[in-house]
Amino acid sequence: MLLRLLLVIAVLGLVSYSAPSSSSQKTKSSSVRSEQAPPRDYPVKPVPFTSVHFHDNFWAPRLEINRKITIPFAFKKDEETKRIYHFERAAAVLRGETLTDKTPPGYPFDDTDVYKVLEGAAYALNVQPDPQLESYVDALIDKIAAAQEPDGYIYTTRTIDPNKPHPWAGTKRWELEKVDSHELYNLGHLYEAAVAYYQATGKRKLLDVALKSASLLDRTFGPGKQSIWPGHQITEMGLAKLYRATGDLRYLSLAKFLLDVRGPDGSRGAGRRYNQSHQKVIDQTEAVGHAVRATYMYSGMADVAALTGDLSYVTAIDRIWGDVAEKKLYITGGIGATGSGEAFGAPYELPNMSAYNETCAAVGNDFWNERLFLLHGDAKYVDVMERTLYNGLISGVSLDGQSFFYPNPLESVGQHRRSPWFGVACCPGNITRFLPSLPGYVYAQQRDNLYVNLFVGSTANIKLDNGRQLKVVQDTRYPWDGRIKLTLTPDRTSNLTINVRIPGWARNEPIPSSLYEFIDANEESVTLNVNGKSVSFKIEKGYASLNRKWKRGDTIELNLPMPVRRIRANELVVADRGRVALQRGPIVYAAEWPDYPDGRVRNLLLPNENKLTADFKPELLNGVVVIKGNAVGLSYNEQGSVERKEQAFTAIPYYAWANRGPGEMIVWIPTDPANARPLPWPTVASTSKVTTSGGQNPRAINDQNEPQSSRDPSNSFFHWWPKKGTVEWVEYTFAKQSTVSEVELYWFDDTGSGQCRVPKSWQLFYKDGETWKPVETTDSFGVTKDRYNKLSFKPVMTVALRLEVTLQSEWSAGIQEWRAK
Ligand SMILES: [Zn+2]
Repeated sequence: MLLRLLLVIAVLGLVSYSAPSSSSQKTKSSSVRSEQAPPRDYPVKPVPFTSVHFHDNFWAPRLEINRKITIPFAFKKDEETKRIYHFERAAAVLRGETLTDKTPPGYPFDDTDVYKVLEGAAYALNVQPDPQLESYVDALIDKIAAAQEPDGYIYTTRTIDPNKPHPWAGTKRWELEKVDSHELYNLGHLYEAAVAYYQATGKRKLLDVALKSASLLDRTFGPGKQSIWPGHQITEMGLAKLYRATGDLRYLSLAKFLLDVRGPDGSRGAGRRYNQSHQKVIDQTEAVGHAVRATYMYSGMADVAALTGDLSYVTAIDRIWGDVAEKKLYITGGIGATGSGEAFGAPYELPNMSAYNETCAAVGNDFWNERLFLLHGDAKYVDVMERTLYNGLISGVSLDGQSFFYPNPLESVGQHRRSPWFGVACCPGNITRFLPSLPGYVYAQQRDNLYVNLFVGSTANIKLDNGRQLKVVQDTRYPWDGRIKLTLTPDRTSNLTINVRIPGWARNEPIPSSLYEFIDANEESVTLNVNGKSVSFKIEKGYASLNRKWKRGDTIELNLPMPVRRIRANELVVADRGRVALQRGPIVYAAEWPDYPDGRVRNLLLPNENKLTADFKPELLNGVVVIKGNAVGLSYNEQGSVERKEQAFTAIPYYAWANRGPGEMIVWIPTDPANARPLPWPTVASTSKVTTSGGQNPRAINDQNEPQSSRDPSNSFFHWWPKKGTVEWVEYTFAKQSTVSEVELYWFDDTGSGQCRVPKSWQLFYKDGETWKPVETTDSFGVTKDRYNKLSFKPVMTVALRLEVTLQSEWSAGIQEWRAK
C-alpha cells in the first residue's frame, strides 16, 4: 500500500502548471485567473471542449438539436412552470415591493433547473455563436442577480417569503440543509453555470453573483465557524470550478471542508446511507444511497484530491468504483437500480423492468469516470464512460430533443413513456448541459502524450503542455463503423506519443470486471496503420501507444472490427440468468415492439446458435444500424400448452427506444424458454377495455403478465398511490357479451419499499342493462398476498364487470392482474 501511495504521490507531484480549462476566457480581472492554472491539478488534462469541433453524423446533429430545440424548450418550460418567475418575485421583495403572490416554489431546488439550462446554453454558445440565445441568457442573468440578497444569499423560496418558505426550507437559513432544503445544492449548480458562462462569453455578471455567494459560505462555514455539508452534493464540484477560475484558495478549502465534515455527526439528516453520510467520506468502500448524490460526491472528491494532492479521497473512490464495476453497473452503463431512494441496490441487484437508472445518474457516472481517467490515465474508466454515454445516457432524451426519460429501464411492457418535462425536472437540465460539453471528453494530454479517448468525426486544435500546437482531424462513421482515421498536423516535426484507446469491447472485455462477458469469439483483430503501413502494438492501460517523430500530414488508421456480440451476465445477477444482451461496437441493443407484427417481444427466444447480422438503415430513427436474424416466438394455444414458431428478429440501439410510442421492449433476451413470456391466449379479461378511478398504468391489470409475487418489481402493475383509505373502482367492458362465473385477483403489495398494501375489502358487480348488480356468491372476497384470490359466483351473462375496492385507511393499493372467465 505504501508503495502504491508513493507512486500516486509521484504522479500527482509531477503535475505542472498548465493551461486552465477556461482557455477561452476573453476578459481579465484582478480576481479572475486568466493565464495561470492552479499549481496542482489532474495529472492528465482534458483538451477543453472549446478546442474540439464535431462534424460527424452522430453527435454533431445531436448537439445542434440541443442548441436549437432542447435548450430553448427547457427555458420555455422554466418559464411556464414559474421557475424564472420565482427569481422575479424574490427580486421584487428585495426592492421593497409587497408581493400579492407569496406561493413558494414547487420544490426548494427548482432554482437549479434554471442554472442547469443556463450552463448548457453557455457550452452551446461556445460550440456555435447564437446572439439570440446569448441575449436571452443575459436578461436571465439580470433576473438571477436581482434575486441575490445583499450579503450574497440566494435561494428564492426564502427570499420570496422568509416567514413561510417551502416547508423543506426550514425556518432559518441552512437549518435543514442536511435534510431537504437544498440551499447548497442550488449553489453548486449556480457556480457551475457561472464559470461556464464566463468561459463562454467573458461576461462576469453571473460569476460575480457566484463569488459573492461563495464568500458568504466562506464567512459562515469552515473550521472554527459553523459546520455544514450539502444534503445533495454538487457544491464541492462547483467550488472546485470557482477555485480554478479565480485561484482563490478559500473556495478549495471550503470544498474540502464540506467533504471532510460529512458523516454521522449526530445532527438531523446525518448518518444516512441515502445521502452518503453514513461514514466519513474517506472510509466509504461501497456505492450506496441516492445515485446522483453519490456520483456528484465522488466527482467532487476526485476534484479536491487532484487540486490538493489528498490521496485518501483517491483510495476511497477507487474502492467504490470497483464496487460499481463489479456489482452495480447495468450493461447500458446505467446506475442506481432501485426507485426506492433513487438508489444503488444491493450487490448484483440489477432488475430490468424496474431498473431506475436515472438519466442524471448516467451523467454523474460520466463525470466521475472522466475524473478517474484524469487521475489515473487508464482507459478502463473511458470504457465505462463510453458505455454509459452511447446507451444509458442518451436514452434519456428523445431523438427530437423534446421529451425525456427520468428512469431508463431495460425492459418494458409499455408502461414507460417519454415526458416533455417533470415536476422534479433535474434530468432535462442535465442533458442540456452535458451534451454540448462532450467535445471536451474526446482528447486529453499529459506532457508529450496525447490521449485519443472517443471516436468522433471532428477537428481539434490542441495546445500541448510543452507549448506545442497540434491539429488532429478525425474521420469516422463511429459508432456504426469501426474505422477511424486521424490526420495529424503538428506545428513542427517532433517526438510525441499518441495513445489510441482500444476499447474494452474490442478486446473481449465488455466492462473491466467479471460482471459481464462476451460468450462468442471475435475472429477479427484490431489493426493499426501509420501512414498506410501496418504497425504492431501492445496495449497498456487500454491504449496502443505510438511514439515517434510526427510530421505534418501523418495519418493513423485504426480498425475496430464490429461483429454483433452476445453478452452474458454474471450468474449472480438473477434478472439476467438464461438471457443474452446484444452489442455491436459501443452500442447495446434492444428488441422493440414496432418491429414485430404482433407488437410483442417478451415472448422471444434467441438461441445462441442463430446467426445475427448488422444492417444500416438510414431512414430509421435518424439512421441506425439494426441487428437482424431469426428467433423463436413462444405462445400459448387454447389448451394452455406452449407453441414455438420461427420468426424474424430485429433489434435497434437501446438509446433509440420509445421514440415510436410506448410498448414492449427488452434488452436481455431469453435463451432459456423458462425466461420467455409466451403470448397468452386471448381471454374475456385480456380483450376487455379497462377503465379505472384514476391510478397509474391500468393496462397492467389485464396484460396477462404473470406476477411472481405481490411485490414483483419485474412485472407491470397498476396502483392508486398516493390515494389512501378511499373507495376505488376498476371496470372491464367486454369485447362482446359473455357469460362469466369466476374472477381471480392478484393484489399488488410493496411492503418494505412502498406504500401499497392489499386492500381492506372489495366487491364485484356485473352490468344488467344500465345498473350494476352484485354477483351472487358464498365465497369470501380474498385479500391474500402473493397468490390469486379466486371468487366463484352464480354465472351471469353481461357486457361488463366492476370491481369496487376499499383501501386500508393508512395505505394505498394496487393490482398485479385481474382474470375473469
Ligand atoms: Zn434527474
